Amino acid sequence: MSLSFRPHHFLCTLGFEGMGYSPEFVENYTEINDTLQNNEEHPIQVSSGSDSICAVCPHHKEGMCGTEEKIRALDERHCQALELSPGDVLTWAEAKQRIKDKMTLEAFHVACRGCQWKELGLCEKALKNHRGKK
Ligand code: SF4
Repeated sequence: MSLSFRPHHFLCTLGFEGMGYSPEFVENYTEINDTLQNNEEHPIQVSSGSDSICAVCPHHKEGMCGTEEKIRALDERHCQALELSPGDVLTWAEAKQRIKDKMTLEAFHVACRGCQWKELGLCEKALKNHRGKK
């Protein structure tokens, strides 16, 4: 499976717990997540636009996110926090290490500002668990 992620989707994937915008979206995301859980050395290319997760999203129209401007700002903040650039390729293990090294709780609150899922607390919990690990 060839994978590309918009910058913010690295952290989303860390906290993925089977929720999403439609049954098809969740099914696709679960398959992607399972692929990475089964092989942490799987490469992921950083995308500047729609990616493997967006592909079946109901808000994805004509190759663009329905809230592209807002998502672009989210991506820029995640790029800054994780020192990512579109075109970079990293394994899921490297991405997790990058998150552990660079995504402090303060950085998370800045990077994820305005995301509709943030208030659920699952991403923050996953980040705290992940960064607490050796
Ligand atoms: S708060 Fe939103 S953008 Fe941030 S990790 Fe969670 S789902 Fe992704």
